[in-house]
Amino acid sequence: MPTLWLTLFLLILSTAAAAAQSAVPQLRDITVAPSGAKTTITFLFTGRVKTVVVEPKANGVAQVRMKSVKADSKALNSPLAKPGVRSVRAHIERTDVLVTNVTFTQNVASMTVAQRDSVSVVVVVKLSPDSPVSAAATSPAKPTKKGTTPKKEPAEPRTTSPKAGNSADATADATSPRKRWALNTIIIDPGHGGKDPGALGIGDIQEKDVTLATSKKIREELKKLMPGVKVLLTREDDTFVELYQRGKIANKAGGKLFVSIHCNSMPEKPHPASGFECYIIRPGRSTDATRVALRENSVIQLEYDQEKYAGMTTETTIMAAMAQSAFARFSETLAQRIRESVRTADILPDRGVHQAGFLVLVGASMPSVLVELGYLSNEHDAELLGSKTGQRTLARSVAKGIKRYAQEYEAIIREE
Ligand SMILES: [Zn+2]
Repeated sequence: MPTLWLTLFLLILSTAAAAAQSAVPQLRDITVAPSGAKTTITFLFTGRVKTVVVEPKANGVAQVRMKSVKADSKALNSPLAKPGVRSVRAHIERTDVLVTNVTFTQNVASMTVAQRDSVSVVVVVKLSPDSPVSAAATSPAKPTKKGTTPKKEPAEPRTTSPKAGNSADATADATSPRKRWALNTIIIDPGHGGKDPGALGIGDIQEKDVTLATSKKIREELKKLMPGVKVLLTREDDTFVELYQRGKIANKAGGKLFVSIHCNSMPEKPHPASGFECYIIRPGRSTDATRVALRENSVIQLEYDQEKYAGMTTETTIMAAMAQSAFARFSETLAQRIRESVRTADILPDRGVHQAGFLVLVGASMPSVLVELGYLSNEHDAELLGSKTGQRTLARSVAKGIKRYAQEYEAIIREE
């Protein structure tokens, strides 16, 4: 009998050991995505990483240590330096500890592990905006301002000393998370504009006009529902705004939510496809979602400087989507609340929440949703979208959905 137990015990042990060995997560890639005073470092793995330790170091270094992982030289050499990032260095210590040092031109205020799942680890680094690392080390092209100019972001926590070498204290974040993450600014992005009409629908209705008119109504409704919250549009009139600019505008304004407003269309008109859809960024799963993303992304052909998007292959969109994954759960909830609210209004069929690689959602460092109000290629939808009452009803529903999301969100950050 005891021999049998021993055998069993050994068997269990060896199986467990084998399982543990095969489960060692392997690093596939590291991406660094800076955006203002915040940078997202995304590590892609083949499995879940058990231990992640983040630590701000002196001289603008953000250090991430991960235990029991594997990495080959290709994955270790993958990161590219970005604006505001001096270097990204990763190496393996003691056979299985991955040490990544990202060196910024500003000192690090705080670091958090925003997400850790079976494929990724997402670390968000906040920088001290008025704390450049050192005059000697910064790029000679940009004279350092030595903290004299008042920066626009008053919500940013100030570390007590701008001196390098003091970053051990920098982990202590003076501002409460409630204040820092308060949902105080909402960005509404009216799709297209100017030389880019967007989709052309039945009766010569243009997407750019519907998106602008509806976005303005969403702002009015939000002001009624959420007084005290700042609502900004990425364009106020019939002007052309490049896709990458829209996210930039949102980040600069300190947006906490980004809602891009669009109208759908089919190549043939009239077409029976009808209804309201919400999208969150992620590489398209269905061909239909990819079709919508391709159509909405095609505007870059009208932009003068297409170089910016040269690197934006499917691969980088996937990477950007991974960076956005820090907000994925929030984006998805926001999309669901907007969708539920529009469904309740019962004016258009509900076509659900989808995922696709929208370039306009790449740049905004906040929960982001793209709304396709309806199909301009459908007779019923086009009539509704072209009418003031239709636009008003849709705007009110979208605003109500945003408010419901905001209430849930505020409840979450109150608990922190
Ligand atoms: Zn559009």
